[in-house]
Amino acid sequence: MIRFSDYKYERPDIEKISKEFDNLLEKFENAKDVETQNEVIRQINKLRNTIDTMGTLVNIRHSINTEDEFYKKEQDFIDENEPNFQNLVFKYYKVLVNSRFRKELEGKWGSQVFNLAELQLKSFSEEIIDDLVNENRLTTEYDNLIASAKIEFEGETRNLSQMFPFIESKDRDVRKKAYEAYTNFFEENESEFDRIYDELVKVRDKMAKKLGYKNYVQFGYDRLGRTDYDSKMVANYRKQVYESLVPVVVELMDRQRKRLGLDELRYYDEPLWYLTGNATPKGSPEWILDNGKKMYKELSKETDQFFKFMVERELLDLVSKRGKMSGGYCTIIPDYNSPFIFSNFNGTSGDVGVLTHEAGHAFQSFMSMDYELPEYKFPTYEACEIHSMSMEFITWPWMELFFEDDVEKYKFSHLSDAINFIPYGTTVDEFQHFIYENPEATPEMRKSKWREIEKKYLPFRDYEDNDFLNRGGYWFKQGHIFQTPFYYIDYTLAQVCAFQFWIKDRENHEKAWEDYMRLCKAGGSLPFLELVKLGNLENPFVDGTISKVVKPLKEYLDSVDDSKL
Ligand SMILES: [Zn+2]
Repeated sequence: MIRFSDYKYERPDIEKISKEFDNLLEKFENAKDVETQNEVIRQINKLRNTIDTMGTLVNIRHSINTEDEFYKKEQDFIDENEPNFQNLVFKYYKVLVNSRFRKELEGKWGSQVFNLAELQLKSFSEEIIDDLVNENRLTTEYDNLIASAKIEFEGETRNLSQMFPFIESKDRDVRKKAYEAYTNFFEENESEFDRIYDELVKVRDKMAKKLGYKNYVQFGYDRLGRTDYDSKMVANYRKQVYESLVPVVVELMDRQRKRLGLDELRYYDEPLWYLTGNATPKGSPEWILDNGKKMYKELSKETDQFFKFMVERELLDLVSKRGKMSGGYCTIIPDYNSPFIFSNFNGTSGDVGVLTHEAGHAFQSFMSMDYELPEYKFPTYEACEIHSMSMEFITWPWMELFFEDDVEKYKFSHLSDAINFIPYGTTVDEFQHFIYENPEATPEMRKSKWREIEKKYLPFRDYEDNDFLNRGGYWFKQGHIFQTPFYYIDYTLAQVCAFQFWIKDRENHEKAWEDYMRLCKAGGSLPFLELVKLGNLENPFVDGTISKVVKPLKEYLDSVDDSKL
């Protein structure tokens, strides 16, 4: 049995690859028939998959142990050479979309790769290379600033993520102090965050204008590969959230207030669900993994096969250890047809989330491995999250395995939290539209606009006497706003789809599973709204979808006596 540790890394020979790539492109352009072009596409796919495989092996091994000198050096090598490689793909896209056999090629490979290639071409030109480098440098500055946080709390120096157990404390005094200490870090560095963001907004606006866009908004959408919806549809979607979902969340927050026995629910009370504490898994990481095996064996033949493959080949790196990077992700190693899951278990319900959410991503990619085109192995972000968020709900019947007596607590907070998240995601989105439509706004104007939008979508939010948060500084901690503009509403769009799987699965599991499998197998071969249709899901952009979807969820939550949890 071959294991992850046997997956062989060899430093890619960039010169050789570039030459090979250029030869293939020449062959493509001179092709007298479509069959020759199909053959070149196959060879280019192979070459790209091999380069991806090498880059991914380095990324994974470096993130598992940042102290390993060999992979640290290889990571630098990959980072330095990535732009060269992107440039090759860019050249390939140019000849691909201009092929005189385009119609036949679309017939064979599907239109989606052409749609994606065209957006890539539209959103790049040599004129913006320096600006892109600048953008990268600024987002790295943001990452470094976040990672630099050293918070003195209860006698120890902690980073931002180490503050969360205290922020969720059952003791109101502790969580208030912890949240204040957490916020202080952002306030102390306020001018740095303001400067980095201001420079990011300006450089993005400049690039958009160089490429002929009115402002960054459409450029941002194009960079995300959004081929079948626009900012007007998204604005109308936010309106639906405001009208149909915000009132439900206001009610849920009031239930939380009562459950916690408080007169006022302050911002630092929101992370605590129950006076008796939040739901946690009842065993060690090995025990959680064993229960995961059992769950996926019972769920379906395909998930059983998938999860056994992951475990046998050691494609899960779950626990924290010295030198390991923080966070979690799922990626794929194309030449080995292998997904990979990386996480840092910390004893919270998030550990089970890794085995449902990240495994949902991994399962989709496992089901899409047969696609030769690298573009089709994962769909665009908003569609990607449907698989992961829906798996969280489809696996509900097995949650007792992990949470035992806490299972009702887990289910109630999981579903409520998913609903509560949507108005927040909408706040982030509306804010970013303001930002890029008004690139000249000052940092003060930006913050006060944030607070104004927060009051609209999160009317219950009470920052008490926290001056920084009252001035509109909450979003500094939201990395997406700095790193990938307009990527965030995606989670909410996917959540509205995942809710439909929650509903369908309770009505008819076989039928829901069939729809889910069809969606996984389609990978990224279709744009978002066509995938939605393929999964027999209602389009989140259509008026009425949100109110229809949220109704049975609310009925379920209303039927739970949460005062007993
Ligand atoms: Zn995800």
